[in-house]
Amino acid sequence: MTQNVDIILINAIVLTMDADFQQFEPGAVAIQGDTIIAAGLETEICLAYAAKEKIDCQGKVLMPGLINAHTHVSMNLLRGLADDLRLDVWLMGYMMPVEREFVSPEFVVLGAKLAAAELIRTGVTCFNDMYYFEEDVAKAIAEVGLRAICGQTVLKFPSPDAQSYEESLGYAREFIQRWKNHPLIVPAVCPHAPYTCTEEILKAAAELAVEFDVPLHTHISETALEVENTRKEQGMPVVPYVKKQNLFDAKVIAAHCVHIDDGEIYTLTHRNVGVAHNPSSNLKLASGTAPVSRMLEAGLNVGIGTDSSASNNDLDMFEEIRLASFLAKVATGDPTVLPAQTTLNMATHMGAKALHMGELIGSLEAGKRADLILVDLSNLHNTPRFRRDSSNIYAKLVYAGKSTDVTDVMVNGKWLMRDRQLLTLNETELLAQANEYAGKIDAFLIEREQSVLSKLIAIEGVEEEESFEVQAKVSLEDIAAILEAIEKANIEILHHRHYHQFDTYFHFDDTSQGLLRYREDEISDVKNRITNMRYRLTLIGRAREGHFPSDVLLSRSRYLAPATHSLRFYREYFEPSGETFIEKERQRWRVLYKGTEFYINLDQVKTPDLGIFLEVKSRTWSRRDAENKAYLVTELITVLLSRMPEEMVTQDYLELVSDKEKHGKYVA
Ligand SMILES: [Zn+2]
Repeated sequence: MTQNVDIILINAIVLTMDADFQQFEPGAVAIQGDTIIAAGLETEICLAYAAKEKIDCQGKVLMPGLINAHTHVSMNLLRGLADDLRLDVWLMGYMMPVEREFVSPEFVVLGAKLAAAELIRTGVTCFNDMYYFEEDVAKAIAEVGLRAICGQTVLKFPSPDAQSYEESLGYAREFIQRWKNHPLIVPAVCPHAPYTCTEEILKAAAELAVEFDVPLHTHISETALEVENTRKEQGMPVVPYVKKQNLFDAKVIAAHCVHIDDGEIYTLTHRNVGVAHNPSSNLKLASGTAPVSRMLEAGLNVGIGTDSSASNNDLDMFEEIRLASFLAKVATGDPTVLPAQTTLNMATHMGAKALHMGELIGSLEAGKRADLILVDLSNLHNTPRFRRDSSNIYAKLVYAGKSTDVTDVMVNGKWLMRDRQLLTLNETELLAQANEYAGKIDAFLIEREQSVLSKLIAIEGVEEEESFEVQAKVSLEDIAAILEAIEKANIEILHHRHYHQFDTYFHFDDTSQGLLRYREDEISDVKNRITNMRYRLTLIGRAREGHFPSDVLLSRSRYLAPATHSLRFYREYFEPSGETFIEKERQRWRVLYKGTEFYINLDQVKTPDLGIFLEVKSRTWSRRDAENKAYLVTELITVLLSRMPEEMVTQDYLELVSDKEKHGKYVA
């Protein structure tokens, strides 16, 4: 007796991608509602089932839809914004500042729809996403009809959708509760990466994922630098570190895993972690080559992803599949690793397992969701076709097939594309809206790039608050004399410290931008042992009122920020026109003189060898205060110098004293 079903797809080369890699030709697939009822030889399927609708696939390949294992789909709106940069400069210097400014529910919806159109066109039926306002992404994707894991990002920094990680976690919890049993969307939590999260965040995210039995999606060991830093700070590589935070109690999907060793591969396998391999992104950002063939040997489930359109720059899974295979071959020097069938499996069935969705999707088998695509291999670049070996068809798809060969896409039993026409999206409208957004982002970046200060604010979140300082500086010949003078003078010493300072000054062609100083302080105790390191950035404005020929006294604006990145990062981000390096030994006293606090600095400038300088300075938050203190600064340095033999003091100082009146006028 025949069973009635909704649709039977006939006359196809059916690649089931099941455990035995069964193929049927001419094959057929029977679908009822959202579910595959059977896949097999056309003759057998047509005998067993009767359908309201029989669709002739015209000899095309009928296979499971591709699974994109790692995306940030809304970033499609940032495609081509900043390229050819190192990961940290790209992420912290461009992506995150632009995201803080622009990312809104409206932004993520448009980006997600733009991506959805591209995903459908390239044969993707399910993807694993991580971004902000992910509930809005989920709504847009559900409306389009694609399947996705939508993961809410949690970070230790304020993000576009939350001021704190507690807020993000709260948002993730509510989102998960609301979407837990949706037919297309699997909600998830995404602690962005170990280095952008704290131990507390990782633990809390894992707990949340376990509580609701939803996936936890994160980036792991993407760059060598990340691993090096984790080793330095935690005394172990990234995988053991996150394991210690109970991350693997959850169903984890780890993107990248480029720099992991065999022990870490064992841990990931043992804890059933799914890996998302992103060949284009790893190549473009020069992150390295993930040890995929060793992962597969160990039995790890590895899927393939595109990562975001900003680091790829497209969502073409056909390209990723081919690259995954080529990259593994060249990395191992072995052309037999990652054969076409294995690689296609990574983008379908194994990819589904990597996303912890292997029971539901990834192959054309009875009981699984009807997520499938038709691929036309009758065109020029796919011709001729050999049938001698059943693996020929996989090689054709992986090595010669193109995403444009995809003609039809079905998700959950519903067509999203028929004969290359998108059925649930208006492509023309999306293109116009995306270009309109690009215009706004362009304008924002053009304005930001005009000023070193605004670039600094964009990455370090500096408060836009000026501080001023007045200083008097003289060059000396003898350290001992000044040490004695400080003791003899009638001043109260509050604090005394010893630093070894390494300053790099960035100059800019436009001198009105000021100077940007990157300072590394080695702070030593009385026994000259290094007790601490400190890294700071200071944007030093041009001396506003000009200064004396001998650089004696000046007042200027300063913006301070902790330096959270490397000198190399700032060099690549600010692109100075020149640099000056200064190394000095500094003794610093914080003192009280006539009821006012001052700093006395005694500097021995070693690189370049400039000798010894005595500096008295005071820092204030207003120009008026700075001006009021100018006289006292001059007076204090005079007091100190008067306690020293006259021949110790160079010409600069004498000029200063004789210029006292002028100072008054100058600062007033
Ligand atoms: Zn990513």
